[in-house]
Amino acid sequence: MTQNVYKAHDHHVCIDSAVSRARALCEEQGARLTPVRQRVLELVWANHKPVGAYDLLPKLAEEGFNSAPPTVYRALDFLLDLGLVHRISSLNAFIGCTHPGEAHPSCFFVCRECGEAQELDAEQVNKIARQAEAMLGVKVEQQMTELMGLCPRCQASA
Ligand SMILES: [Zn+2]
Ligand SMILES: [Zn+2]
Ligand SMILES: [Zn+2]
Repeated sequence: MTQNVYKAHDHHVCIDSAVSRARALCEEQGARLTPVRQRVLELVWANHKPVGAYDLLPKLAEEGFNSAPPTVYRALDFLLDLGLVHRISSLNAFIGCTHPGEAHPSCFFVCRECGEAQELDAEQVNKIARQAEAMLGVKVEQQMTELMGLCPRCQASA
């Protein structure tokens, strides 16, 4: 597992490294991290809580970006395609990927109290998918793992 978001940490480091990884990945793929794409990525990374597309609109408008929904959706699609963000389907919200670059399924623990989400190692889920394919002859097309519960902090204050 990468970093534990439920431990106290300097979140600026998270944001900075997310942006520099995004720059490197775009360069590698010949894609362009336009100002609006980068800003959307930064806003998704503002904290460790999954954020809905519509929550981003007012912030972008405030900052003078074109905040029409299609602009935001296109930016999010771009970030999804590059694997820089994941979609949490049960919340219809987006969260930054902590280790972009290699395609992997979305696998998260989400705290139902504070909303902070921790990306998990998808390896075990991959294994279950391969097993199901081998045993049942099915073809797995989507793997979305979303574990819900209480983070250590919220357990302590419950
Ligand atoms: Zn952080
Ligand atoms: Zn990821
Ligand atoms: Zn919590």
